[in-house]
Amino acid sequence: LSERLQESLKKIRGQATLTEENMDEMLREIRLALLEADVNFQVVKEFIANTKEKALGQDVLGSLKPGQVVVKIVHDELVELLGTTVSELDLSSKPTVIMMVGLQGSGKTTTSGKIAKLLAQKYSKNPLLVAADIYRPAAVDQLKTLGEQLDISVFEKGTDVKAEQIVSEAMTYASQNHHDVILIDTAGRLHIDEPLMNELQNIKDIVHPNEILLVVDALTGQDIVNVAQSFHDHLQITGAVLTKLDGDSRGGGALSIRHITHVPIKFIGTGEKLDAIDLFYPDRMADRILGMGDVVSLVEKVQDVYDEKETMKTFERMKRGTFGLDDMLEQMHQVRKLGPLSGILKMIPGMPKMPQINDEDTDKKLKMTESIIYSMTLEERRDPSILNAKRKERIAKGCGRSVADINRLLKQFEASKQMMKQMGNLDPTTGLPTQKP
Ligand code: GDP
Ligand code: MG
Repeated sequence: LSERLQESLKKIRGQATLTEENMDEMLREIRLALLEADVNFQVVKEFIANTKEKALGQDVLGSLKPGQVVVKIVHDELVELLGTTVSELDLSSKPTVIMMVGLQGSGKTTTSGKIAKLLAQKYSKNPLLVAADIYRPAAVDQLKTLGEQLDISVFEKGTDVKAEQIVSEAMTYASQNHHDVILIDTAGRLHIDEPLMNELQNIKDIVHPNEILLVVDALTGQDIVNVAQSFHDHLQITGAVLTKLDGDSRGGGALSIRHITHVPIKFIGTGEKLDAIDLFYPDRMADRILGMGDVVSLVEKVQDVYDEKETMKTFERMKRGTFGLDDMLEQMHQVRKLGPLSGILKMIPGMPKMPQINDEDTDKKLKMTESIIYSMTLEERRDPSILNAKRKERIAKGCGRSVADINRLLKQFEASKQMMKQMGNLDPTTGLPTQKP
């Protein structure tokens, strides 16, 4: 899927202007990408409409290429929809009461444990876990075991006392025992029903939670919209947690949750272990949903350091066949400025499969190349064909390398000249080939 996106990106790249026609194709692919990422179809529809409007209104005459403009707009739109900034728990009141709600199996109990651990370790809190799921005996035991593992107190009354009674007693217990955070692990159902919602509403009325976190399994699919809608309608949730993102899910559910509820997504679950929890970063999730690696940050990075005029000059020389050794060195420097080469390659979608590049080797080669080229006269750099044995001897002495080293460099120069001729159309902004060689 991300490959298809890249394909249509490639088609747009290199075209002079962003027309409605080529935009449509791009947006069709993005629409498919979003649907395949399990974003709700209604959400997708609105997203595409917004993006199109923005893209068509944009000036693409700047230094950016049309394809980059589209990616950036799509990405920025996604980030905005996902919430732009990281949103942490509201821990301002004492005690802080956090109520965990969600369908059965979504990860409420596990996430309660994860958050308790996080608050104890990173925020020096003294949390109390409350077992308010009385419908499955195993649920109480599960929380008790978690508490023992984490060395965090658990308040439980077995399964014979009503949930309302349990949370009420838990509040008193917490204040007597100086717990500053109370995490309430509530019951779930396989499907939403009125009795459950009523019980949750009662609990809410008793404990007055500062946070009601809806826990959603990222693998829920299109139904995520209904889940988010009903929980929000009944309880006015304050945040969401998207679990099981360690699996195949592209995380499209995050968009649907945001679209329906507008509450921030506060955490993501990334595994069964109790430290497998992370804050929610909208930009990372946008990348994940689009399946594009860090393509946008690459675009921005390239834009930052690349001197387009210099590049265009080099391009002109290449076209006229006057591409010389100093041009090659200049290019090597430009690429080097972007940071370790292996990092750059990793940011390009589809690249992680490439063999590892050894940056140390690259550095050594660059130094060697520099020392040799700097020992040449300008004339020699522009036109290496004049390098006879006598000149090579002189250069070798100057830079402390052997004539064999110089010959190797010249061979490499010829090869890269040849290669560039074949590739023909490098993207002048990124310096990267627009087509796979
Ligand atoms: P609850 O019914 O909502 O309380 O859900 P549980 O906390 O009992 O979790 C249900 C199952 O999902 C358990 O097997 C958990 O180990 C698993 N689980 C919870 N969160 C994650 C997660 O982020 N990643 C993975 N892989 N599994 C998770
Ligand atoms: Mg549970």
